[in-house]
Amino acid sequence: MSAPMLEVRDLHVSYGGIAAVKGIGFEVAVGEMVCLIGANGAGKTTTLKALARLLPTQGAIHYGGHSILQRPVHALIGEGMTLVPEGRGVFARLTVAENLDMGAYCRGDRAEIATDLARVYALLPRLKERAGQLAGTLSGGEQQMLAIGRALMSRPKLLLLDEPSMGLAPIMVQKVFEVIQSVAAEGVTILLVEQNAKLALSVAARGYVMESGLITLSDLAPALLANPKVREAYLGE
Ligand code: ATP
Repeated sequence: MSAPMLEVRDLHVSYGGIAAVKGIGFEVAVGEMVCLIGANGAGKTTTLKALARLLPTQGAIHYGGHSILQRPVHALIGEGMTLVPEGRGVFARLTVAENLDMGAYCRGDRAEIATDLARVYALLPRLKERAGQLAGTLSGGEQQMLAIGRALMSRPKLLLLDEPSMGLAPIMVQKVFEVIQSVAAEGVTILLVEQNAKLALSVAARGYVMESGLITLSDLAPALLANPKVREAYLGE
């Protein structure tokens, strides 16, 4: 494995007095796609929010070899760490094009932004067709595509994807995951949080299993797919 892009050690996150993440450690190498799977409430979203510096945390988080515990959110986006939040978080009353433009708000290089917009439209042609449409009127799958497209407009090096399959029809889930694989193929490092373990493990190289705020298993994705515990608890077998 090459040098880690993200290295997390002994991470703790609490809501008031309630511990949601209880001392976890994991890493993601440059160019790798890694998934974090686990049941509802296991602490996956909390972990991603902690990485994106949206929640107070204890422990060590190194991104690109440097501690980011003191880094503000906007600085991290400028440095290439971008979260696609659970529920997508698109701006419903803005158009598709305006939402994409918001993804580039940390950047000053207007000419390159135009090039990136063309790339996003090439990857997600549906967004180009609907550039002038209000985001709130898109289907769930289209909104997920828009959330990913908006994240790509920040030129991410590390994309944190929170439950991209949530609430989508199976055909849209498949399309969204094809897009995620294309993004990974372009060299973007991805940390994918999913309740749909089968799907996540079918696209990721490695996975971590989270249970009640702890990481209880980690392995290569094919090994996790074959693991009887994972099959019973997360693959419904
Ligand atoms: P899901 O798939 O439902 O998002 P998850 O694995 O992402 O599940 P988290 O959302 O991280 O789990 O939740 C972990 C724990 O923290 C749960 O017990 C949850 O009830 C609790 N929790 C999450 N958000 C808050 C909050 N804002 N205030 C208090 N407790 C919270």
